[in-house]
Amino acid sequence: AKMAGRNTLCFFDPSMQQAVAERAQLEADLREALVQGEFLLMYQPVVDHGGHVLGVEALARWGHPQRGMVSPATFIPLAEETGLILPLGRWVLHTACALLARWQHEPARAHLTMAVNVSSRQFRDVGFVQEVVRALAETGAPASHLKLELTESLLVEDLLQTVATMEALRAHGVGFSLDDFGTGYSSLAYLKRMPLAQLKIDQSFVRDLLGDASDAAIVRTIIALAASLDLQAIAEGVESEQQRDWLAAAGCTHFQGYLFSRPLPADSLEQWLGRHLG
Ligand code: C2E
Ligand code: CA
Ligand code: CA
Ligand code: CA
Repeated sequence: AKMAGRNTLCFFDPSMQQAVAERAQLEADLREALVQGEFLLMYQPVVDHGGHVLGVEALARWGHPQRGMVSPATFIPLAEETGLILPLGRWVLHTACALLARWQHEPARAHLTMAVNVSSRQFRDVGFVQEVVRALAETGAPASHLKLELTESLLVEDLLQTVATMEALRAHGVGFSLDDFGTGYSSLAYLKRMPLAQLKIDQSFVRDLLGDASDAAIVRTIIALAASLDLQAIAEGVESEQQRDWLAAAGCTHFQGYLFSRPLPADSLEQWLGRHLG
């Protein structure tokens, strides 16, 4: 919004200015939310094709005092841009590991894994390996039951550094999944250089699996690729039995989606686990 002379474009646009102000407010709120403890984790079960519970994925939520529940699709990108993802990601790791540690004392739950989403900026931070090691040590969670979910963007950005960080954590026993597989740009050659355990099939491919021949072909390809690299294939966004059966017949072994459970707050998750594990 500058004075524009003749023949120069004037960018004054009230709706744009409003969007900028809105964003600035959200950013200030995000800073405050960390201090006030407005974040919470929901947990979505991961099951095998027989319905046996294998673990959960931790998914962050922001309970904003005026706006209500804010989606991570809104606040995670903002947290990444502002660097607030570092303290937020640390809180997510600690909270998820604390729950994972509690399960170790219960025979019916001791096998469950905990998947935690890690953003690129957080993973690239020089202190990341130490941060994960500290979260495990402080909570007493077993490294072998922690699965970090990384996205393909990490591969393109700096493969050598990514592999080095993964190897360092792998040496502690931590496992890795490649999230949203097929939506990014990964070169298949990179895959075998990373200490991965799982490829996660994005819900955008699962959604129209039964009606869209190209989505079905992509999913088949991902499952075959996973098998040939000795990785587990995990499908997210499974909402119907038909999708589950199709995926299982194609060789997918791990499933997540509303068919089994929506993401649940910790107390509801415990009840859900009680019904499914005894
Ligand atoms: P994602 O890791 O791909 O997580 C899967 C998303 O699909 C979740 O959305 C989940 O609630 C949703 N979902 C699960 N099952 C179904 C289903 O059957 N149908 C449909 N339509 N959706 C399903 P959510 O919880 O809104 O999270 C969105 C994204 O935000 C996540 O995508 C992840 O990339 C990011 N995110 C969430 N929590 C964290 C976090 O703690 N740290 C980081 N870095 N990112 C996070
Ligand atoms: Ca994920
Ligand atoms: Ca994602
Ligand atoms: Ca996804």
